[in-house]
Parts: sequence; structure tokens; C-alpha cells
Amino acid sequence: MRKFNINSLVRENIKTLKPYSSARDEYDKWSSDMVFLDANENPFENGVNRYPDPQQIVVKTKLSEIKNIPIENMLLGNGSDEVLDLIFRVFCEPNKDNIITLPPTYGMYEVLAQTNAIEVQKIQLDQSFQPKVQNILDIVNPFTKLLFLCSPNNPTANSFESKIVEQLLHNFNGIVVIDEAYIDFSNTESWLSRLDEFPNLIVIQTLSKAYGMAGIRLGVCYASVEIISVLNRIKPPYNINELTQRKALERLSDYKLVFAEIQKILEQRKWLRTELEMIAFVDTIYPSDANFLLVKVDNATMRYNQLIEKGIVVRNRTNEPGCTNCLRFSVGTQMENIKLIKELNTL
Ligand SMILES: *Cc1c(COP(=O)(O)O)cnc(C)c1O
Repeated sequence: MRKFNINSLVRENIKTLKPYSSARDEYDKWSSDMVFLDANENPFENGVNRYPDPQQIVVKTKLSEIKNIPIENMLLGNGSDEVLDLIFRVFCEPNKDNIITLPPTYGMYEVLAQTNAIEVQKIQLDQSFQPKVQNILDIVNPFTKLLFLCSPNNPTANSFESKIVEQLLHNFNGIVVIDEAYIDFSNTESWLSRLDEFPNLIVIQTLSKAYGMAGIRLGVCYASVEIISVLNRIKPPYNINELTQRKALERLSDYKLVFAEIQKILEQRKWLRTELEMIAFVDTIYPSDANFLLVKVDNATMRYNQLIEKGIVVRNRTNEPGCTNCLRFSVGTQMENIKLIKELNTL
């Protein structure tokens, strides 16, 4: 395999900065009878008067059991959005470096690039919403640091073929970020199982979708120890608050319940597809590996507005490249889905 040197990708200022060392970073031999006079906290206990664990060891240990990945290969963020932002700030030099995205895809990559003054090079997905490997490799230049692959992809709902992803991992000399926000709804295997094989791979997952915790904001980044430690250098020390850590632990400890909910969502996805196929103005229902369906209709904006009138909010994706007249329906509860189909049938 070609030589990959993470140091040549990290910004100089990140390499030389001295990370903030928090009060809670500097002791490691915890015991319950210790007296904490190190962090200027209010000493009267109310459940949240202490700073949270900056390394979230308990939550990571639970995740580690579920995902079978060592905690040294994990970094938690305030949503995937924070993880993505950290990746930009570690690897991309403002007004100099660039990234590659593959539209139609998740909008945050571009917003974060613009926030950080990073140029975005776009290569549209092909007709089957797969990456065009040669076109991607052709636009790479010495300043191309990151390639974003969202698989299963939002809003197209499909997964990228593993051969294609593998080619990109082997031939792209920067970091390949695979966003697996929807992986738990997919039959394809997570790239987590191949983390050891690719030193330039970052996998991002989230508790916002399948795990049903969009409100607590918890994203997870998995990568080599080298990548994780450089991200840790700039991570805000207490980025995951105490309430989030507790809630996450509670839910992760009951992941059988999570799996049961995923099964219900998958059944509902199947039911929705069958019902949508019978609606006259529905043109195409794309294959889905996620908890939503991308649906091409006769006139997306008109149908979107009609649904709003009926009290149902869906996502109009008609302005995304390759998605003309497409609506995106999240899979709801059985009751919600029945209502959607009932109303669609009256339009
Ligand atoms: C929903 C979603 C996320 C989740 O972001 P969070 O900040 O973790 O809530 C990430 N990536 C994609 C593609 C998504 O659709």
C-alpha cells in the first residue's frame, strides 16, 4: 500500500499549538472520596454542578462494546456537525485548501467549508447516484485535503458500492470522510470494520437518527489513533455536556430497544413504498438504505405546498442536482405514515 503520512496533511498551527488542559484532564485516579477543589465549581451537589468528563470514558466504553472499536479510535462531538467542523479546522488551511463533495448530498459539508474559507470542488453523482471515481481523482490537486462520501447518502437514500469506495480510499491521497448517519437502516456493512486497513479513513456516525436522540446532539467520529489524537488537540474540553452523556448512556445500555425501533421503521419503509407505488402522480421511488424515501413526483413544489395545507411537512429537494421534482419523506410512525398516504390520495 502507498505511504500515507498524516503529518503532511495537518495544518502547521495545529501541529504546534499547545492544547488546553482542563482541570479534569489533569487527574486520572478518580475515587469517590476525593475532594474536588480544582475547577472553581459550586460545591453544592445538584446533579450538574460538576464539569462533565472531557473524554466521556463511560459513554465511549459502552459504544466500544456495541461497535467493537477501541475507545482510542473514537472522538465524540456535539452532533456530527461539530465533528465535521473539527475535521475542517485540523486539515484545511483557509483560503488555500479545498475539499471534494458529491452532490446531491448533505448540505453541511459545503456550509462548513464556506465557514472555514475552504473551496468546494463538486463532482455530481452519476445517474444511479454513485460516485464517478475517475472524475473525482482527476480534479484532485495538492491542496485537496478531504473527500466527503455520505453513504447511505442524504437525500438520495442509496449506499455507495463498496468497490467504488475502496478505489477512492486507495487512490485519494487526502482524508476520506464517510458519513454513516443512516448506516443502521442499511444492509451494507459499515466501513468501521475496515478502519485498520485505511489510515486515511474517518467514519462518522450519529445518535440523531436510528438511535432516536437528535435532541441531545451526539456525533461519533471513528478513525486511527493518529487522527483521533490530532482532533483531540483542538476539541473544546467539555464539548459533550453532562445531561447528554447520561442520556446517551441510558439509551445505549438498552440498545435492544433501539434495534426493535429500527425494525419497525424498516417495516414502515416497506409499507410506505408499496402504498406510494399506487399513487398516480408518483413517478419513481428510489431504492432506500435509510429511514426516508426519495420520491419523484409530477410537480414537487405543488405537492409540497398541498401537503403543508394538510398539516404534513416533507422535504422538497427539487433544487438539488439530479433531484428535479423529488420529495424526501422521512419514515414516521404507522399512524403518521397512514395519514401521509391518506392525504396523498386526496390530492
Ligand atoms: C442527519 C445527518 C447527520 C446528523 O448530524 P448530527 O449533527 O449528528 O445531528 C449527519 N450527516 C447526515 C448526512 C445527516 O443526514
